[in-house]
Amino acid sequence: MKSSFVSRLLRRLPSRCPLCQMAAHGGLLCAGCEADTFGARQRRSLCRTCGVCATQSGLCSNCEHGSVLDAVVCAIDYQFSGQLLIQLYKEGKQLTLARLLSDLMVRAAQPLLQTYQLDAWVPIPASAARLKHTGFSPAQQLARLVASATNIPCRLDWLTQRHDGPAQKTLNRRERSLSVRGRYVAHPAVAGRPIGVIDDVVTTTSTAVEVARVAKAAGARQVVVLAAARTPQRA
Ligand SMILES: [Zn+2]
Ligand SMILES: [Zn+2]
Repeated sequence: MKSSFVSRLLRRLPSRCPLCQMAAHGGLLCAGCEADTFGARQRRSLCRTCGVCATQSGLCSNCEHGSVLDAVVCAIDYQFSGQLLIQLYKEGKQLTLARLLSDLMVRAAQPLLQTYQLDAWVPIPASAARLKHTGFSPAQQLARLVASATNIPCRLDWLTQRHDGPAQKTLNRRERSLSVRGRYVAHPAVAGRPIGVIDDVVTTTSTAVEVARVAKAAGARQVVVLAAARTPQRA
């Protein structure tokens, strides 16, 4: 990870943990909250392509027969204080938390970056409804910061959305999978390239799988997903 003198200095500045208000540094989590969120997820040995099932072999029994996704890496679990952090970012519109979340994502992605020589980070486009509701794209903000910290470019137009479907929150796993079919379009520039798709929360992987499907249909060589949070159970 590249770290300039100024960013190293900023990291040392005293601040308050956004979750518990205890002493912290650089706008990041305090040590206790970091252990409860980032540490709790990173300690577990999880399936490489669904990011949810515990396994020692790298792939769970659902994924061992192949997945269109090459890897899924998430910084924290979408539950308890991890869920609160995401809600403060997305619903509470605390945009400064994008820096904290992207910092955790970059740290979680270190093994991924040693395996895959990614050509670009590509955020999953926000729905028109989300943009109207929050006024910003949570995934796009994270992608910009992850790109800057990893020195890999961010390509906002490599994935676009054709139409808004029904809100994903209201759907079950099968309905989600059907509702995202045909929703995204990959730019021809992805052909032959390994790309890293950025999302804020991965819930069922329906969206990630559909995005990987269209990117690979357009010729993408590898598609890995890096997200801030992942639901810790199969939805
Ligand atoms: Zn804290
Ligand atoms: Zn799996």
